[in-house]
Amino acid sequence: MNPLYEAMTTSVFERMSALAAKHGAVNLGQGFPDFGWPDEILDAAARALKDGSNQYPPSRGLPALREAVAAHYRRQFGQEVAAEHVCVTSGATEALGAAILATVSPGDEMIIFTPAYDSYAPMIRRAGATPVEIALRPPGWRIERDVLDAAVGPNTRAILLNNPHNPAGRLFGPDELEAVAAVARERDLIVISDEVWEHVLLDQQRFTPLASLPGMAERTIKIGSAGKIFSLTGWKVGWMVAAPELAGIAARAHQFLTFSTAPNLQSAVAYGLDEGDSWIEPMRQRFARARDRMMEGLRHAGYAVLDAASTYFLCVDLPASGVSLDDQAFAAAAVEQAGVAVVPLSAFAEQDPPRQLVRLCFGKKDETIDAGVAAMAKARELLA
Ligand code: PMP
Ligand code: GLN
Repeated sequence: MNPLYEAMTTSVFERMSALAAKHGAVNLGQGFPDFGWPDEILDAAARALKDGSNQYPPSRGLPALREAVAAHYRRQFGQEVAAEHVCVTSGATEALGAAILATVSPGDEMIIFTPAYDSYAPMIRRAGATPVEIALRPPGWRIERDVLDAAVGPNTRAILLNNPHNPAGRLFGPDELEAVAAVARERDLIVISDEVWEHVLLDQQRFTPLASLPGMAERTIKIGSAGKIFSLTGWKVGWMVAAPELAGIAARAHQFLTFSTAPNLQSAVAYGLDEGDSWIEPMRQRFARARDRMMEGLRHAGYAVLDAASTYFLCVDLPASGVSLDDQAFAAAAVEQAGVAVVPLSAFAEQDPPRQLVRLCFGKKDETIDAGVAAMAKARELLA
């Protein structure tokens, strides 16, 4: 069997959700909201299932969804994109796979910033290339131009950026984005820009797509996800957006991964993107309230919580909270003994991983947050 998969463990999200189910724990590990999906989109999906086609849609996506994605970005960010820039995928995870396979060849290197979403490094390796990690450091999690310059070598083909960043809960600043763009332009690199959290921004922040920076539209493959925009993570409808030539090549990688994505869900997402701009602000406010509730509860229980203003994740600093266990040991004990599942950040880096932080998902109902905070308080009593 392929040694890459033989040596690999099961994804931390799958492991923690299984442990949460086994122990009847509050699941603040894997990132999914337990509230928030607009009923109108569910109705649109039901209508499409009964009245629409249930046969293969075009591999690059339903024309209505490709146009809706392009129109969404024209409206939201003033980008000059059309349906021909869009390729619909089965979630952002598949889009990342297709974009990576389409970009690198054996012997190439791709730069990633850690902690990083857990599919990045394995997919880069499976494509025959080598992931080159740049470790971002808490609490600032900043991208530094000189560190990036030093990581680029003759074999570097691409940079994989995640903005806003999971699990740091941070939107990168204009200077950091410009650093990535400048290096990409000067060294002639592709940037795969994983922007799935583009609308999950709290505290009045404004998102800037990387492709909107000078000279970047022709070298960026943007990744988006309806799972995040509409809090429908199980639907697995995502997309790549890139200049037509790049999009066409990435679409060829996609065609032999999944070929296409459930047409009824695509129709419903198209409906949501056409109708749903007015849902974005209330969603942000709902997540901001949830963030404040969880943060306050955790701080009251004695935890040191890092700032979090994008995505629906926050990080707890264990040593600063008086806990001497590392992240893996804390996560294992918390789910078993205190009834709460969290994600250890060391799962998101291979070299020099942070071992003092755990991630919690705050995109939850009040009662879930309160139960999770109570269990975290119990964990601190048991483990500190
Ligand atoms: N990239 C990042 C940074 C993510 O956080 C996630 C999901 N949490 C994904 C990609 C995958 O998105 P999807 O569920 O649409 O595959
Ligand atoms: N991306 C989600 C998270 O960060 C989980 C995705 C998954 O389970 N594959 O929690």
